[in-house]
Amino acid sequence: MNVVVAEDNVALAAFLHRALEKEGHQVHCVPDGAQARDYVLEHQPDLLILDLGLPVLSGVDVLRAIDGRAANTSAIVLSGLTDLAVKLECLNLGADDYLTKPFSTQELNARCRAIRRRRVDTPSAVLRHGELLLNRMTREVTLSEHQLEFTTKEFALLEYLLLKRGRPVSRQELLKQVWRVMPDAGTNVVDVYINYLRRKLAVFEKSDLIETLRGEGYGIGVRPGADALQTPALHLPLFSRVGVV
Ligand code: CA
Repeated sequence: MNVVVAEDNVALAAFLHRALEKEGHQVHCVPDGAQARDYVLEHQPDLLILDLGLPVLSGVDVLRAIDGRAANTSAIVLSGLTDLAVKLECLNLGADDYLTKPFSTQELNARCRAIRRRRVDTPSAVLRHGELLLNRMTREVTLSEHQLEFTTKEFALLEYLLLKRGRPVSRQELLKQVWRVMPDAGTNVVDVYINYLRRKLAVFEKSDLIETLRGEGYGIGVRPGADALQTPALHLPLFSRVGVV
């Protein structure tokens, strides 16, 4: 995992750096809370190991600053404080685990492995296809950093197609999984909603992002070469694009 360690105690930071690198992680250390916040928001590492008693911004303030803005970053809090209220506050602010100092390397490594396992088992909070990002926690969708607005059902449909990225999804499967109804060949609701999505993507000239796969249904990233999104496509500011449509 990519790990950032926020620890102002130089000796402890060096110790953590060595221990985590030995376990195969890529490690970056920062000495204060403001740098921890900036690093997490900019790089969205897999894991933040966060001391609570930090200069500039406290560990709790860091958690508060990144809450909901770094859905892909797990956090382990390190602290000498064993106060239950502090521990609960950290967990409520999105920390995944809490380690009380002093701790052993084995314990730290075990907690890191548990977090890695959880990350592998759970689909990522942020689904991505090229420049299209869908955040399942904040329910935001952006395309080349422009925010898109979707209704609940449109969002659920796009989310499902992204979860199944790279394979065709039949209308029957979409009816069952997104609409929670028994597949019924008599309804065209799936096609209607695919059109709604495409119309919104058309503002960015990306209506072909959702592929129609004859006889199989719909999909994202199924056809080789269909993914034109890997290259940044939006050079014009948003208003001029909207003006064209
Ligand atoms: Ca400290």
